[in-house]
Amino acid sequence: MIVVDPVCGMKVDSEKAKYKAVYKGKVYYFCSHHCKKAFEENPEYYLVHGPSGEFMEKST
Ligand SMILES: [Zn+2]
Repeated sequence: MIVVDPVCGMKVDSEKAKYKAVYKGKVYYFCSHHCKKAFEENPEYYLVHGPSGEFMEKST
């Protein structure tokens, strides 16, 4: 299954992904160790804001 790296927005194949993290019972996949680490350090940030550049929230 193709999933989106919550940190950078890159598409990752969950079957091939080497980097994954479980947060609140959900599995997240990452393109690199760097992204995994960033997510683990601040999961709430990425879950709220989404990957940088993907979900640019333009409030007003
Ligand atoms: Zn990434």
